[in-house]
Amino acid sequence: MIGGDALRYVLRRVSEGQEDDIAEPYALVDYQKYSKLHHAIRELYGPASHGILNRIGRLTFRHFVEEQAGQMSAISIALRLMPLRARKIFILKVIAHSLSESNHHETVCLQEDNGRLQLIDMNSPACQGISSSEPVCWHTVGFIEEALRWATSQEFRVEEISCQAQGMPVCVFAIAKEPDQPLHLAWR
Ligand SMILES: [Zn+2]
Repeated sequence: MIGGDALRYVLRRVSEGQEDDIAEPYALVDYQKYSKLHHAIRELYGPASHGILNRIGRLTFRHFVEEQAGQMSAISIALRLMPLRARKIFILKVIAHSLSESNHHETVCLQEDNGRLQLIDMNSPACQGISSSEPVCWHTVGFIEEALRWATSQEFRVEEISCQAQGMPVCVFAIAKEPDQPLHLAWR
């Protein structure tokens, strides 16, 4: 995902010399450290940071599942009994709750706009000190996309349609109503 030298550079920028603290990229769940990591990756990779941060967001969700193994296996059993839309709503509520918890108050909530589900993030760490003409919370997009894939076994696109980095009051992540069509390979 990230070359060795580049990763060391990023980790150095994040930990300010305390590289041992965060030898595992997965360990970067602390929001202040995450904010610094986000800045360093953007600086180092420019436009390519979009895909890298999306991938890190997806890995962060997988790590979250491992960390909360007991709770998540109970959730996965409950999900099997639900129709698709209910699964989406359920996992989005789990995410909103867990992201809010790390901020110690409710900062992420689920809303619906014309039948389209949206996660609203009122205090995104990725946006701190960033001013941008386009949304920057690609890590969160990857995190939500992976959560939806885990809960539904399908890929749902997530688009950040409003970002605090753009001067907007909140970050809004819109979830596609329909899953992506599976790719049909030409030689099949
Ligand atoms: Zn944002």
